[in-house]
Amino acid sequence: MAYNDRLAILRGMKAAERLHRDLGSRKAMDRSVRVDVFSAIARAGAILMFKSLDPLLGAFMREGDLMGVMLTVRRPIGQQRFTGAHELGHLIMGHEPHADDEGILRRAPMEGSYAQVPEQEREADAFASNFLLPKFLLAKLHDQQSWDRRNYENPHTLYQASLRFGASYRATIQAYERDGFLSSRQRRTLVGVMPRDLKAELVDGHDVGDWRDRDVWRLTERDEGSVIEANRKDLFVLKLKEHGGSGYLWTYEELERAGFLVLKDEAEAMYPERIGGPRRRYILGEASALENGSYTLRERRPWRADDGVNQVTVHFRHALGRENGQYAPQLDRLAAN
Ligand SMILES: [Zn+2]
Repeated sequence: MAYNDRLAILRGMKAAERLHRDLGSRKAMDRSVRVDVFSAIARAGAILMFKSLDPLLGAFMREGDLMGVMLTVRRPIGQQRFTGAHELGHLIMGHEPHADDEGILRRAPMEGSYAQVPEQEREADAFASNFLLPKFLLAKLHDQQSWDRRNYENPHTLYQASLRFGASYRATIQAYERDGFLSSRQRRTLVGVMPRDLKAELVDGHDVGDWRDRDVWRLTERDEGSVIEANRKDLFVLKLKEHGGSGYLWTYEELERAGFLVLKDEAEAMYPERIGGPRRRYILGEASALENGSYTLRERRPWRADDGVNQVTVHFRHALGRENGQYAPQLDRLAAN
C-alpha cells in the first residue's frame, strides 16, 4: 500500500476515534454495539434529510454556516447508516461538498485499485469504517458472544455481527479484516457469500416471499442485555438450550402480548442418545407489530410462575430513518425551541 493511502486512512481513523471520545461512546453505549450515526450527524450541526435518491446514496452539503447531509431511503438500513457515516466523515474533516454513489460500498481499501480513489474519499471511507465499526465495538461483541477465531470463518457470524452493528455485511467483513480478525483470503471468500442464502438457511424452509428489507436475527442466550434495532419486516430465530427433561421450558408470553408473532416453534434433542437431556428450542417469529421495549424470555416450569433457571432480556426497537423528510428527532428538537 502506498504511503499516501496509508496517511489518508490514518487521518480518517483518527478523526473517528476523536469523535467517539468527544461523544463519550464507550461509556454511553453501555451494552449496545450500534453507533447512533444519525444523532451524531445532528450533533455535529448538520441538518439530516432522507430522500428518495437514486442512483445517489447520499450527499454532504455546505453553504456558509449551513451544513446538511442527505441520505437515500432506497437502500437497506445498513448501507444507509454506512453512507451516513461516510458523509459525517466529509463534514468532520472539513471536506468539500460532495455527492456519493454506489462506489463507496463497492471499493475495498485492501485492493490495489483503491489508490485511484480521491484522497478525501479515502479519508471519508476510513472514517465511516472506524466510526460505525470501531475496534472497541468489535472487541465488545467478541466478548459478549464468546466467539473464537474460527467463528469468523463462518459467514453466519459476520452476517449476525453486521445486524448488531447496523452495518452492511460487506463493510462488516472489511472492518474485521482491518483489525486482523480475518486474512484477505478469508475476506474474499466471505464477500462471495450472499446474505440472502444465509437468511434462507436461518428460516429453515419457511416461505418468506419477498426478502427485500428483511433480515433474519439469530438470538441466543449470548444476546442477554443486547439492543436489537430492527427493520419492520425482519424475522427472528430464537435458538435456546432447554432443560425439558426437568420440566423447564422457554416461555415468551410477554413478547407475544406485546405483538410478537410466532411462525414456528420446535424443539429437538441436542444429544438424541441421552433420554431427558437438553433440547435446542427453535422459535421463528416476526416483530412488525411489536412495541419498542425491553423483553425477557424465561426458562421455567410452566406450572410455577416464580422459578426460572435462565433468562434472556433484549432491548428492542424499530430502526429509524427509512421515511422521507427531515430526521424526526431533529424536527422534534426544532419544534421545542
Ligand atoms: Zn464521499
